[in-house]
Amino acid sequence: MKKYDVVVIGAGPGGMTAAMYAARANLNVAMLDRGIYGGQMNNTDDIENYPGFSSIKGPELGQKMYESATNAGVNFVYGDVQSLTVDNHNIKHIQIDDDIIDSKVVIIATGSTNRKLDVEGEDKYSGRGVSYCAVCDGAFFKNQDVTVIGGGDSAVSEGLYLANITENVNVIHRRKQLRAQKIIQERAFTNDKMDFTWNTSVTEIIGDGNHVTGVKTFDIETGEDKVVNTSGVFIYVGNTPNTGMFQGLDITDDSGWILTNSEMETSIPGIFAVGDVRKKKLRQITTAVGDGGIAGQNAFEYIEEFK
Ligand code: FAD
Repeated sequence: MKKYDVVVIGAGPGGMTAAMYAARANLNVAMLDRGIYGGQMNNTDDIENYPGFSSIKGPELGQKMYESATNAGVNFVYGDVQSLTVDNHNIKHIQIDDDIIDSKVVIIATGSTNRKLDVEGEDKYSGRGVSYCAVCDGAFFKNQDVTVIGGGDSAVSEGLYLANITENVNVIHRRKQLRAQKIIQERAFTNDKMDFTWNTSVTEIIGDGNHVTGVKTFDIETGEDKVVNTSGVFIYVGNTPNTGMFQGLDITDDSGWILTNSEMETSIPGIFAVGDVRKKKLRQITTAVGDGGIAGQNAFEYIEEFK
């Protein structure tokens, strides 16, 4: 059985920073991920709000953070974490696939997953015109008309990305105005390939059996139903936390977000949480990185007391 001082679950910006800080304190650190390191940054094209870079591609920033972590001595371990338990000696047992890893400290950095719209046709056409990742799937819609659903930062910035590739991007939002940052809104409003449909919800995604052909919409103000033709539907309507595997620990709120104090401590000694998986207001790379630094340092202090 493998034993570590610190196991970080999730190798997004929060987890990579936490792991780097803990390793720089000379702790034996494993950083686990069920996919490629980088987390949500792999689904992002240009990042323009990470200090030090006027613009950087998401995967490139992920690569740089990974190098910072591994250069500090972090061991990257591939694994899908199934559960986490704590024994009477306060040792944490992490079940990954068919293996169990022991650790004095666990830092949870599992982020969140795009929320589904939950309408008819969404599952049927997922991967056949329905997507949650413009950077991954945008190229399939070259010179076609696509629809983006949502009004936050992700919806608008990914809409801008799609406008570079596609013929037209129709952003459908159920409110009267966007929630995205003003600078991104201005860019979208002046982009002649982007249109906005306000006060409207999408009630169904329709297709020809193989691929999306349109969406059914409902105008919340006028009560009018419509069918809008489109080849692709990109859904950005919020996130749900990746915390199903920690359910037994009682460290989340009712919606599944992990509750911590400002030191990133959960209610269980030696279990910290960082980044998007926490209950917090601003879910960004900068805030995930900030959380990670705090948790990595506190992991060291916790282990000093543990000795
Ligand atoms: P994540 O990046 O989500 O990483 C979590 C990691 O945990 C993943 O690698 C996942 O595979 C792993 N994981 C989950 N469950 C398990 C498990 N059971 N076992 C093992 N591993 C697991 N922020 C900005 O600051 N600027 C931007 O321009 C920006 N653009 C964005 C564009 C899009 C389309 C999206 C979706 C997000 C964007 N964000 C942006 C937000 C930013 O990406 C997130 O806030 C940030 O990545 C959160 O980091 P994290 O480390 O908390 O989690």
